[in-house]
Amino acid sequence: MNGGETLDFEVRPNPAPVSAAERSALLANPGFGRIFTDHMVTIRYAEGKGWYDARVEARAPIPMDPATAVLHYAQEIFEGLKAYRAADGGVTLFRPDANAARFRQSAARMAMAPVPSQLFLDALSELIRVDRDWVPSDPEGSLYLRPFQYASEVFLGVKPSSEYLFLVIASPVGSYFKGGVKPVSVWVSRDYTRAAPGGTGAAKCGGNYAASLVAQAEAIEHGCDQVVFLDAVEQRYVDELGGMNVFFVFDDGTLLTPPLTGTILPGITRESVLRLAADQGLTVREELYSYEQWQADARSGRLREAFACGTAAVITPIGVVRDRSGEFTIGDGTAGKVTMDLRERLVGIQRGTAPDPHGWVHRVL
Ligand SMILES: *Cc1c(COP(=O)(O)O)cnc(C)c1O
Repeated sequence: MNGGETLDFEVRPNPAPVSAAERSALLANPGFGRIFTDHMVTIRYAEGKGWYDARVEARAPIPMDPATAVLHYAQEIFEGLKAYRAADGGVTLFRPDANAARFRQSAARMAMAPVPSQLFLDALSELIRVDRDWVPSDPEGSLYLRPFQYASEVFLGVKPSSEYLFLVIASPVGSYFKGGVKPVSVWVSRDYTRAAPGGTGAAKCGGNYAASLVAQAEAIEHGCDQVVFLDAVEQRYVDELGGMNVFFVFDDGTLLTPPLTGTILPGITRESVLRLAADQGLTVREELYSYEQWQADARSGRLREAFACGTAAVITPIGVVRDRSGEFTIGDGTAGKVTMDLRERLVGIQRGTAPDPHGWVHRVL
């Protein structure tokens, strides 16, 4: 199966959509991931038949047999990307082809049938077309899209499912940072790891998140916003946060981010930051960075800034780093200039207020 196939979508409009007045009220303060649009996409897969029955239909519960494979063996993957309201009222996506490709890579790792890239992109467009009024117009808001796929075969055997359901749901979201970008504190987990070599760290699967929750809870208990994971083999090198990649900015103007060795999620924001930094003439290194070195560089002042990046929060400065033996501050603990410049450039491209030299913006409507 290649990435170019698609299907015709049957649109079954929601007979009882949210009223325009109620929608405006919801969009005034959407929060993150709590409000959903009127519709969803569903597409089915069966071995021997391929992908079939592509629909845009009313968002509704999915009836599920208790023996559905995903509930027992967690064969599930997902994506996350945002649709933006353009100045002319249209709607754009940021690098959705990269999400389509990564979704196929995640499927391969989890022994799942891959969704053809064109079908994935069409599913996003079809949902946006039907739920276009849910794309926020305010300059901080966006419509968060959540494509996901799970093993839907009713069978308690340990083997790849012969049936899958692919869905896309959408959730209007406001600014991740209420009242402006502010640095986060991070907790360095010494008791838990996220992904080992040969494991599923590079796949965007729900299981990785399930495994990270106890470490995230530990971070919160210690007064931190996010958890940082070290490598599983030596417990020495920085991998990433629970759901964001990490960058370091040094006094010589260089940037460093851990390399994609298979235990890190290949973030599209990460890759975009690497390109934008290179465009600016900054030297970027994809190299291992030990926690020990991080502590030493922060103390000596060689490390000026650090930030996390991912679709939800785009670029987030890291202010304080804590572990069970103490803590240190990065720079003066406030958002750094290189971090905020990169953030502004990336957000400008995503929102269509800055030129798009790499052709990353994909027009949907
Ligand atoms: C999704 C994700 C990221 C960020 O990826 P983006 O494509 O930039 O949104 C980073 N780490 C993990 C573990 C993730 O699941």
